[in-house]
Amino acid sequence: MKSETYDQKTIVHNYGHGGGGLSLSWGSSALAVRETVGMQPGDVAVIGSGIMGLTSARLLQDAGWNVTIYTRDVWRHTTSNVAAGEWAPYSVYEGSRASPAFLSQLDWASRVSHHAYTNLTGPDYGIRFLEGYTLRGRPFDGFDGRAEIASLFAHKANLEPGEHPFGDWYAQRFVTMQIDPGVLLRRLVQDFQVAGGRFVVREFATLSDVLSLDEGVIFNCTGLGAGELFGDEELTAAKGQLVFLPPDPAIDYFTFGGGSGVLYMFPRSDVLLLGGTFKPGDYTRHVEADETERIVDAHASLFAGFG
Ligand SMILES: Cc1cc2nc3c(=O)[nH]c(=O)nc-3n(C[C@H](O)[C@H](O)[C@H](O)COP(=O)(O)OP(=O)(O)OC[C@H]3O[C@@H](n4cnc5c(N)ncnc54)[C@H](O)[C@@H]3O)c2cc1C
Repeated sequence: MKSETYDQKTIVHNYGHGGGGLSLSWGSSALAVRETVGMQPGDVAVIGSGIMGLTSARLLQDAGWNVTIYTRDVWRHTTSNVAAGEWAPYSVYEGSRASPAFLSQLDWASRVSHHAYTNLTGPDYGIRFLEGYTLRGRPFDGFDGRAEIASLFAHKANLEPGEHPFGDWYAQRFVTMQIDPGVLLRRLVQDFQVAGGRFVVREFATLSDVLSLDEGVIFNCTGLGAGELFGDEELTAAKGQLVFLPPDPAIDYFTFGGGSGVLYMFPRSDVLLLGGTFKPGDYTRHVEADETERIVDAHASLFAGFG
């Protein structure tokens, strides 16, 4: 999170959240909005209408700003709208490169975001608490990840084979939130418009294009688009592939693992979602048939004994 000044315009950057952007959104956007402390609220531009653009816009409105969102794609066509939807701020940074200051910001953003989502639980915003089970072939020792973030997962327990219905796997149980991105984004768009926000469909090709906006303060929430637009060579893609099946309201838990490669099952209200892949540096967008087959076959084996 940082802001820069060009031609007397302030640009606040709010992008680069890897596999945890949905989870971190409110906290990351709160950090971004903090960059405007001391400014007189007036007209502000937000570029991007994914989860970072929408949460930045809502927090700016609450702080008294008059917000216009400029975006190439409307919310329905953003990466945010296809996120799997677990509240888990993971796969966000490279451990070897994270400074203590960055990690402290991550802890703060995680806590703020968790709190914000907790206040939005229910069908209106598409958020509910669910049990999750991480499955693997060897026993668990404690709970992985940063202690501050782990503390936000409730009812944690490490279970032996026989203490759960998933066969011979060792399981780690926890409770976190399932976020249905389609429901959430649609509702945030509505909240934004009710509060007087305006959308303009526009693609920016260069920095000078961005600086041609009338607004003196501009929030850059362009996700992967920021690499080209702002010349950020450190930003890289991570390709994720999902399989969508018809929803099954009887399923009220997540699973992670339980086979080879990246695997997860999320019972979203719109789809029963099977994942997945996580391929850093892969910019391709095509569906990989062998990955689809692996994902479906592995889940078919995992749930073979279920009624
Ligand atoms: C398969 C998959 C599963 C995931 N699962 C989870 C999960 O379970 N939990 C979680 O927390 N996170 C998850 N994520 C990560 C999450 O989806 C992202 O971190 C998050 O959506 C990023 O949001 P964003 O608003 O920054 O970017 P985006 O949603 O990509 O939005 C970017 C916006 O900027 C606009 N834009 C870009 N370039 C330009 C330009 N030049 N001019 C104008 N507009 C521009 C776009 O049109 C778009 O509106 C997952 C991601 C994937 C791919």
